[in-house]
Amino acid sequence: MQNCVFCRIVQRQRPARVVYEDDAIVAFEDINPQAPVHTLIIPKKHIPSLLDITDEDASVLGRMLQIANKIAVDKGIADKGFRIVNNCNPDGGQTIYHIHLHLLGGRQMRWPPG
Ligand code: 5GP
Ligand code: ZN
Repeated sequence: MQNCVFCRIVQRQRPARVVYEDDAIVAFEDINPQAPVHTLIIPKKHIPSLLDITDEDASVLGRMLQIANKIAVDKGIADKGFRIVNNCNPDGGQTIYHIHLHLLGGRQMRWPPG
């Protein structure tokens, strides 16, 4: 999708600090980090939100979680802990409509979230 910021990152038409890539997934550092570790994990396929996941897409979501796990270990935050977030639609705080997981860590997370 040409007008999607995250598709442009996948296609390397927009710069990003990519930390992981495979045939289906890209992970890169959030441009406006909310914690010492704030990495975004996205599918290469343009899927607007969690609500658009089909049976065919279900496995890629599992892989996104596996990659989040791997990045948390690689960045040394796994033992202390971290948070995985998916914002969905306006009340969920979604601003980019290309599904993504936020991996947040390196500080104490609060509950309830804002
Ligand atoms: P959402 O609010 O949709 O859950 O999260 C979108 C996230 O994407 C935000 O945390 C925002 O800082 C990040 N973001 C928006 N535009 C860009 C960009 O061009 N590059 C990178 N690396 N992150 C972005
Ligand atoms: Zn997209």
